Amino acid sequence: MVGNQRIRAREPIHSTLRTTFRSGVTKPISWRRQQLLQLARLLQDNVELFAEALSVDLGRPKQEVYLIEVGGSIQHCLLNAEKLSEWTKDHEVEVPDYQKSWKARYHHSPKGVVLIIVPWNYPVILSIQSLSSAIAAGCCAAVKPSELSPHFSTLFAELLPKYLDPAAYSVIQGAIPEMTKVLELKWDHICYTGNGRVARIIAAAAAKHLTPLTLELGGKSPVIIDPATNIALAAKRIMWGKVNNSGQTCVAPDYVLTVSSAVPALVEAFKRQICALFPQGALDPASTYGRLISEAHAERLKSLLNRTKGTVVIGGRSEGANGTGKHAMEPTVVIDVKDCDSLLEEELFGPILPIISVESISEAIEFINSRDHPLALYVFTDNEEIKQEVINKTTSGGVTFNDTFQQVSVTALPFGGVGESGYGRQSMIHGFEDFSYKKGVVDIPKDAESFFARRYPPYTAESLDF
Ligand code: NAD
Repeated sequence: MVGNQRIRAREPIHSTLRTTFRSGVTKPISWRRQQLLQLARLLQDNVELFAEALSVDLGRPKQEVYLIEVGGSIQHCLLNAEKLSEWTKDHEVEVPDYQKSWKARYHHSPKGVVLIIVPWNYPVILSIQSLSSAIAAGCCAAVKPSELSPHFSTLFAELLPKYLDPAAYSVIQGAIPEMTKVLELKWDHICYTGNGRVARIIAAAAAKHLTPLTLELGGKSPVIIDPATNIALAAKRIMWGKVNNSGQTCVAPDYVLTVSSAVPALVEAFKRQICALFPQGALDPASTYGRLISEAHAERLKSLLNRTKGTVVIGGRSEGANGTGKHAMEPTVVIDVKDCDSLLEEELFGPILPIISVESISEAIEFINSRDHPLALYVFTDNEEIKQEVINKTTSGGVTFNDTFQQVSVTALPFGGVGESGYGRQSMIHGFEDFSYKKGVVDIPKDAESFFARRYPPYTAESLDF
């Protein structure tokens, strides 16, 4: 609890956090480290409860919850705790000789009271990644999980105060009406993960207080396949990234660009891979295939598929809830997709994979450059020239060669988008820096006075004599 400060029980969360931040309790490195370790412990002690909550909310298999959500989150907390002393050190700056004695440096100061708004698709890791960065930075934080993952939100709201200081870190629950009120408050930083439409609402609300933002958005992440690559391995790795969470992943491969001669072999390889992943069929109740988040989302995907002018060569069948609460669509591959197709209108965020034929890698690059900047860009090739060409000629949050989705496990890399896929960076030092600001500090000695003689009026002819 906050030293001598008394927090009234019913004081609204925002002012409680503000009072705590002003008390300075969140700033000592030892305190930040202890809270980070507590957050790791929260996850470790309750892994089964998180698995159950995500099974009900999202139909997520336990293995995915352990590996991607809880395992990755614990790693974030522990690495933040380990690196904290290094990141918070003062950084001396280079100065000319006459300023050498001024001790000019900067250090990372916490921005203050931050709001972290999280979507439903990876609720654990997206909450913990940002919260652990905020703690590392020395901020107070309110986390707002999605109303579309209610079991996770309720569980997280119950557990957080048992492990972390509730006067410094809190969970806000609710939907649009509650959020509209929350956004009227002055926050010192807002980190929003979600879609571009809501991001604009958040940005407009933040602008009223000049609140800085991190926007972690999505978009259409393309895959380029060099026909000379190992097509079977490419298909295996692309399909894994696509079916995980039924394609409801911000970095899921959205569409494939390759030359037409490679398409038949690619389709065959996708077929084999889907059979290997779901031998009894993805829609079989016993399969470990996740479900679509809502009826509205399932209907949106069906409508996009119904309107395509391409040819469905794999999958295409959907399953309504039928009292099971599970909306699902088979892993679906569509070929002969042209530039203005329904499947290229918006981020698919589902298990549909369109394949677009191009004449060359250069044409694939042009295609990508004619659209919004993606969050992730995937290239399957062994050719170093192609790799360099893609890095140099495209704009995207990141580029991954020869796999999909796995780049997020490289926690030292900055994670984030550019343009329509967002701005700001998360993960490790990059997240720490997003929740901090660089405070310039300089200590000008008294004996610098002789050097300043010419700065004081009245000016004389000698003042100009350099
Ligand atoms: P969502 O519907 O769960 O919304 C995200 C958050 O925004 C929720 O907490 C919700 O309560 C809040 N929200 C919704 N409407 C609001 C409003 N009018 N005012 C204030 N807050 C509001 O999630 P979603 O947007 O459907 O998530 C999917 C999107 O998120 C996809 O585009 C995906 O690519 C993107 N995403 C990006 C990342 C990333 O790290 N870049 C990660 C996951 C998802």
